[in-house]
Amino acid sequence: MLDRWWSTLRKMRDERTLKRRPIPDALWELTLARYPFLARRSAEDRSQLRELATLFLAQKEFTGAQGLPITDEIAVAIAAQACLPVLRLGLDAYAGFVGIVVHPDEVVARREVMDDDGVVHHYDETLAGEAMEGGPVMLSWYDVESAGESAEWGYNVVIHEFAHVLDMGDGRADGVPPGVHRERWLSVLMPAFDNFCERVVCGYETVLDPYAAEGLDEFFAVASESFFVTPQALKEEQPALYRLLMSYYRQDPAG
Ligand SMILES: [Zn+2]
Repeated sequence: MLDRWWSTLRKMRDERTLKRRPIPDALWELTLARYPFLARRSAEDRSQLRELATLFLAQKEFTGAQGLPITDEIAVAIAAQACLPVLRLGLDAYAGFVGIVVHPDEVVARREVMDDDGVVHHYDETLAGEAMEGGPVMLSWYDVESAGESAEWGYNVVIHEFAHVLDMGDGRADGVPPGVHRERWLSVLMPAFDNFCERVVCGYETVLDPYAAEGLDEFFAVASESFFVTPQALKEEQPALYRLLMSYYRQDPAG
């Protein structure tokens, strides 16, 4: 009873948001023009994406770092790309976090690791984005903005980080998102990963960035980028992996 009451209330709230705070036509057209992998989706997908992005903007909190002002252009560019993976899954998949921190460019993070002898080593890591369980999601605006061009080589920082968010939905960053049959999922993902790592070691050209060889979590995130921005290439090189992602995301971007 309470559940039904709650979902009715939520539906009313969403309808009000869509009516009162729609993404303006001009800004939506600009966003589609900037990101061809969004523009080439069907009219139905685009309209659904616009609605989801509108609700996403109402639910999430954007913060600019290093003096970066969060303009409507920045917020809509991120919302539209972040909502692409959950077009069929719905925004509940992102319920575990609220904050999105946008930096003007890449960020250098100071890291430390302890070796087997207990000695702590420090190193710097350059990040275009980062997702943590419970949030916030960090993104470099430079990388977000140029995602139309970088799609040519399958790179998309927003989809990458939000794939991590989905993966961590069950509290584990292990390349197995919640809601899938773990054994069945791994029976496809593992061989695809092993095969990919071999190809990287042998120095072959791959559709996926070699960074995907870091681990199953990165493999899932990088494969998700390619699935949405260079779907045809991924489908040709890794058909089983493509079908796996198709079943999870309930979309066929190459179709
Ligand atoms: Zn990653």
